[in-house]
Amino acid sequence: MDMTWFNDMEARIPHGKVRTRFAPSPTGYMHVGNLRTALYTWLIARHQEGTFILRIEDTDQGRLVEGATDVIYNTLKECGLTWDEGPDIGGPVGPYIQTERRDTYGKYAHLLVEKGHAYYCFCEKAESAEDSGEFDRAEDPCRNLSLAEAKARVEAGEPYVIRQRIPESGQTTFHDAIFGDITVDNDTLDDQVLLKRDGLPTYNFANVIDDHLMGITHVVRGSEYLSSAPKYNLLYEAFGWEVPTYVHCSPVMRDQHNKMSKRHGDPSYEDLKAQGYITPAILNYVTLLGWAPKGENAEREFFTLDELAEIFELSGVSKSPAIFDKEKLNYFNAHYLREMEPQAFYALAEPYLKEAVKTPGIGLTLIAPLVQGRCDTLLDIAPQVDFFDELPQYSNELYCHKKMKTDEQNSLEALKATLPVLEGLTQWTYDGIHDALVGLAEKLELKNGRIMWPVRTALSGKAVTPGGAVELCLILGKEESLRRMEKGISQLGG
Ligand code: GLU
Repeated sequence: MDMTWFNDMEARIPHGKVRTRFAPSPTGYMHVGNLRTALYTWLIARHQEGTFILRIEDTDQGRLVEGATDVIYNTLKECGLTWDEGPDIGGPVGPYIQTERRDTYGKYAHLLVEKGHAYYCFCEKAESAEDSGEFDRAEDPCRNLSLAEAKARVEAGEPYVIRQRIPESGQTTFHDAIFGDITVDNDTLDDQVLLKRDGLPTYNFANVIDDHLMGITHVVRGSEYLSSAPKYNLLYEAFGWEVPTYVHCSPVMRDQHNKMSKRHGDPSYEDLKAQGYITPAILNYVTLLGWAPKGENAEREFFTLDELAEIFELSGVSKSPAIFDKEKLNYFNAHYLREMEPQAFYALAEPYLKEAVKTPGIGLTLIAPLVQGRCDTLLDIAPQVDFFDELPQYSNELYCHKKMKTDEQNSLEALKATLPVLEGLTQWTYDGIHDALVGLAEKLELKNGRIMWPVRTALSGKAVTPGGAVELCLILGKEESLRRMEKGISQLGG
């Protein structure tokens, strides 16, 4: 067999640096587990100043979803998981889309047949039976056909698949960076299909060919692939190739017993964004799902992506499945929102504020700082600020506050005393309003709360508001503030 082409392929493989790849199938959905795999893969590369590669695994044509690669690109871009080689930017070992590598797999499958580690199989079986691996190779008559006879049938145009020839006896051991050494008996492994009737490879074959030809040093993927790893090892050995470092990650679970899944409505990255979570918080939290920092950072929770790249060590990846906890994500998100520069927060909050507060003249830039420290997610903004547009119906009980020592009667008196003072204010500024209210309390020898609480209640009709009486007056403006106070007075029977 002429090996020139194969030797040329070998010559293209970069060596000497860490090379990792994220290899999603375009399903149109980047679930949290996928995102975490992408993160770990990227972090391993960046931590060692290696190369991060994006490869699209689209050989399962039945699962293709329109626009699905865009979801992958957009998610990675938004998350800052920059790739050094990929379908859109090319690279030394492209193409980076599996269907564009079709011929390559066929050639390697035939090479493996020549080497005796694979065979042509002409049996009519449903693809599903082949994929499920429920097939007893002891009964496959094609396994024992002579190569000459099989080739003759191929040349005669008979449809075939190419199957891996697993050794009849013995054991296969492989090493995983997280799970250690795993040994299986070869007679438990099936002669899996490598090349399908349509000439496309199975995932199980394509990933080995691609990882080798792309010079991948660390293969990071979900632990659902652990059981296939011995077969991959046998393929590497059959070709005489170096086995990469396997890094199998335990699943992200929705609860003790179930993996997160699209079917159960568990959120994708895009869903989390739509639910008001922000990217740095998602990335920080998702990285800690199944990985923990060590040493001086062991107790630390908050990291930027660059900081994670600095400290990410494989030894911190856990074997146990991690449970996705919305409450914990809320905690991370609230922290990131709180810590943002005010302008940056405003930029994020503006669409939500605009949606909730439509009255012209209301200063959204004044509202944003009031809610910044009071949100788990951006969706928490609207319900807190809706009263600016319209005073809700409220009960007079809101005026009664034990600690403030307010009740309906003294609230009525406070509002009646406050109204003319605010009416007479010529400068509607924070300081002006503040000094007027505090000055009135002083004059009446009352604690500030006796004035502030009734005013805040009359302005908002809510038990809890972002901002106190002074801020609300300022934001609502003089006319509307006075109108709401009059409404309060009349509602209290005054
Ligand atoms: N295409 C596979 C998936 O999306 C990737 C598995 C791998 O990384 O090897 O599950």
